[in-house]
Amino acid sequence: MRVTFATEAAPGRPNEDFVAATPDAAVLLDGAGTPPGSDSGCSHGVAWYSRTLGSTLIASISQAASSLPELLAEAIKTVSSLHDNTCDLNHPGSPSATVIMLRRRNELIEWLVLADSVLVLDVIGTPDPVVICDDREAQVGARYRAEMDALDSGSDAHVSAHRRYVETLRSYRNRDGGFWVAATDPLAADQALTGSMPADRVRAAALLSDGASRLVDRFHLATWREALDTLDQHGPANLISQVRTAEHSDPHGERWPRGKTFDDATAAHVSFTSSE
Ligand SMILES: [Zn+2]
Repeated sequence: MRVTFATEAAPGRPNEDFVAATPDAAVLLDGAGTPPGSDSGCSHGVAWYSRTLGSTLIASISQAASSLPELLAEAIKTVSSLHDNTCDLNHPGSPSATVIMLRRRNELIEWLVLADSVLVLDVIGTPDPVVICDDREAQVGARYRAEMDALDSGSDAHVSAHRRYVETLRSYRNRDGGFWVAATDPLAADQALTGSMPADRVRAAALLSDGASRLVDRFHLATWREALDTLDQHGPANLISQVRTAEHSDPHGERWPRGKTFDDATAAHVSFTSSE
């Protein structure tokens, strides 16, 4: 297994994404931002949350006896225990993160996807990649984003509308009929999308935060196949640079309305072919 990855913060902000790999596993998380002017009840912040949860996951993922949801539930509990004395973990805006876990175990590729980061699998004998994304937040969000999307994304009014949007969505977080993310409730792990496939059927996998997947699923400037090919032939940094070029070409969100003009972008490419 060969892993390459790149991550780049949105300009002028701390990077709230996290990516890490071992010889037989990879994890990618995208911390859910607390917009300016919004409370979270946590003094550590979103970047701390995604890095701490991510490093806990990568430390435990090779414990083969546990399933990926079990490992995620344990990691959520571990991170909560690190700040439940100092922070208000019942706050609706407490830091949260999307999670992708991928590991090779017993000749199987196993995965877990929670919230809107995207896992793309290049399956041998299948022309179109298999795309695994949990779109429950997008489905809820579609009801509330019209006001934000109508505004110039460089404007103060857009910043306010984005904050209201994020705060409205909080009431749907980690409950039935809403959407699920890693935050303080370990039961979220049971809501993740999971699966497995024989390792000899998978040529490669891509793990993408939504700041990187937007090249395909929001900007429509590449297909998933083209994104896989870019990752394989030119590397993850090249894909992220294509995202930045597109974002700079549309600084006010007129062509592609979006909550964040620029977003943290992370891409990992995992090659399972043994010819390396
Ligand atoms: Zn905290």
